[in-house]
Amino acid sequence: MKLIINIKPFSFQLTRKLITSQGIIHNKIGFLLQIKDSDGNCGWGEVSPIEKNELKECIESLNFIGRITTKDSIENYLCELPGALSFGLGASLADLENLSIRQLDFEGFDITESSYLLPTDIDPSESIVKYLDRSNKEKSSRTIKWKVSNQENNFNEEKTLQKILNILPKNFKLRIDPNGGWSRQKAQEWSSELKNETRLQWIEQPLPSKDIEGLFSLANQIPIALDESLIEFPYLRKIWKSWQIRRPALDGDPRLLLKELEKEDSRMVISTAFETGIGRRWINHLAARQVKGKNPCAPGLAPGWCPKGPLFDNNPKSVWGAA
Ligand SMILES: [Mg+2]
Repeated sequence: MKLIINIKPFSFQLTRKLITSQGIIHNKIGFLLQIKDSDGNCGWGEVSPIEKNELKECIESLNFIGRITTKDSIENYLCELPGALSFGLGASLADLENLSIRQLDFEGFDITESSYLLPTDIDPSESIVKYLDRSNKEKSSRTIKWKVSNQENNFNEEKTLQKILNILPKNFKLRIDPNGGWSRQKAQEWSSELKNETRLQWIEQPLPSKDIEGLFSLANQIPIALDESLIEFPYLRKIWKSWQIRRPALDGDPRLLLKELEKEDSRMVISTAFETGIGRRWINHLAARQVKGKNPCAPGLAPGWCPKGPLFDNNPKSVWGAA
């Protein structure tokens, strides 16, 4: 069947700057996909890589596929395309398949069950105190994520770690994410410090994504979750037995991720790359499936970091209209 691909650019600003060891994210830009079949049915997707250069690459690949095409043609290209584009195209095709086979009922996910991402532009210990207070009243997640090694902070992170450990109750979990910003020596120092810390859930991507040998060696001492390495070297998704942070919007065809997630030994953690409502349908569905798996833990959906409004609606048509 002939398919027509339409696109619409979007952009939005996060509610606050996210500062990591790799740079600052404040805006998200990308494009929405609408794939129409000859009966007028629509499938919906979103394409928004974190790396701005990759967006150009996605548009070029899409031009290469052509705006009038077929399902088979898209399926043939999918595994060679940038992850962000495969996510959008795979999501759109899933909607069209769903009309005939009806296999996907998008599940919602209560975002308060997500881990709490600490602000990166102020001393995190104050935010933790506020969060503890709130989570006592409102029953929200007991998992906190701290992005360290950020370029702009003007406090000593080692001292802050001690402060955090002093105030964090026993039944809370802490995730530490240097986004690949540590040297082997620094990773060793933090690992030695945290080795017997039961509240530490894992350290996420402590070393640069290419230092695979260093990451495997560190994983013998302390729980390590991979994130950026899995995007740069997808073969690691098959062999990394510890935690895997999976950001569906960058990961590729979400139909494949869903299948992978349903495997017995999956240790995946679904995380956001900050999506509109169209991408969010998939993130929520995958997160809902993840917490029902054999190794449940809080997904990383960064509550409160995306603004509100029609661009974040559950209905794809409203999102398309708002872009
Ligand atoms: Mg990460």
